[in-house]
Amino acid sequence: MIENSTGTIARFAPSPSGRLHLGHAYSALFTKRAAAGGRFLLRIEDIDLARCRPEFEEGIYEDLAWLGLKWETPARRQSDHFDDYHAALRKLDENGLIYPCFCTRKDIQREIGQAGRAPHGPDGILYPGTCRALSPEDRAALAAAGEPHALRLDMRKAVDAAGPLTFDDRERGRMIVDGPGCGDVVLARKDVPTSYHLAVTVDDAIQGVTLVTRGEDLLHATHIHRILQALLGLPEPEYWHHGLLTGEDGKRYAKRDKSLTIQALREAGRGPAEVRKLAGFAD
Ligand code: GLU
Repeated sequence: MIENSTGTIARFAPSPSGRLHLGHAYSALFTKRAAAGGRFLLRIEDIDLARCRPEFEEGIYEDLAWLGLKWETPARRQSDHFDDYHAALRKLDENGLIYPCFCTRKDIQREIGQAGRAPHGPDGILYPGTCRALSPEDRAALAAAGEPHALRLDMRKAVDAAGPLTFDDRERGRMIVDGPGCGDVVLARKDVPTSYHLAVTVDDAIQGVTLVTRGEDLLHATHIHRILQALLGLPEPEYWHHGLLTGEDGKRYAKRDKSLTIQALREAGRGPAEVRKLAGFAD
């Protein structure tokens, strides 16, 4: 689709936890096309320092350049910006919208087992809210004892504070945000001082992104991001959730499909035009 929207700012945001595969090539080429002559940015989503590696980041640059994509440099590397995420958390904290959660996975399973039902949200089983009910004294005692904790959004308060929200998707039209269906999502992990949801929301605003493109497998996440935008006073971009490229077996590409990495295809003698075509983008 050719659009007259040269003011568009779009970004491709891969994680350097493996080599890019054909599904990434599709997403990157989709984003470039969606930018329609506007700006095409790159963001390295490496908050999970245990899983991300510098050589995979190098691989991203190498593979995108080989595919013929040009992005504005430098790319924004999330691990360089933990202070931005911290500032957002502080703002939410000042407004009483987050709380520390000391639960382990086991605690959550136990609690859900007792409740006898396990409603699911976008990040899996909905958190049953155990630590939301902790008294300030208990919170302080656990923190003083050095108990590791995540920070969760108090979704009920968040929905009250944000009011009714929508977002606009290029294919689906106007979508109504369902906050309660997302539950008290994690905004800072025990091992990482932010989370995917918080980092991408803050970054898209800082990078001035006007059109967020992402796979439709992440459609649920956009509900959370819209709420965070409202709470943090950040602008609302437009969205375009795209279908996922699937292999001949009908399954979507994943990092485990090593034979279909851009690198492997290149080493097998395929050229950039051929790989772009495999990803559904004929020249
Ligand atoms: N980093 C995410 C991924 O690799 C995409 C980021 C986003 O579009 O929100 O799937």
